[in-house]
Amino acid sequence: MANRLAIPIAELALPRACAVCDARPAKLFKLRITQNIDLLFARHERWYTLPVPLCLSCHKRRIWISIAGWSLVVVAFLALAFGGLVLAIDYDSPFAAVAYGLLFCLALFGRLGLDDLLTWQAVGLHGVLLRGSPPRARLAVRRVDLFNKLRASSPNARPA
Ligand SMILES: [Zn+2]
Repeated sequence: MANRLAIPIAELALPRACAVCDARPAKLFKLRITQNIDLLFARHERWYTLPVPLCLSCHKRRIWISIAGWSLVVVAFLALAFGGLVLAIDYDSPFAAVAYGLLFCLALFGRLGLDDLLTWQAVGLHGVLLRGSPPRARLAVRRVDLFNKLRASSPNARPA
């Protein structure tokens, strides 16, 4: 479950502890908080980079989750591409169209949502820049105690 907070960018700062496990931080992960219009091949984007402290173990875990997630998508992509080709050429099967439909959906997911999903799995944070002035972000925070700390540290933060 996610707790969402609308918070001015100027007040957005995470505590100096690992954002996942509260241990002593060793690395900073740059979380991109974006506002974008994504048209698949053209993208208009504004973003703010939030430094997220991570301990060494959570930093390594984040990298492995990212590698595993992308590897899985690439393997599935190749399997669908090859399977679709075999179905179309060798068997003249209508299931080739299904394979290529799935391939298209997978490519779309890889392009638009995979990084966010993997970051959410690894770090438990996701941010979107909100329109308006002053600049604000809507931040989803998995850890309830971190959510409460952020809410307490920012006078203008509101649940969103
Ligand atoms: Zn940690």
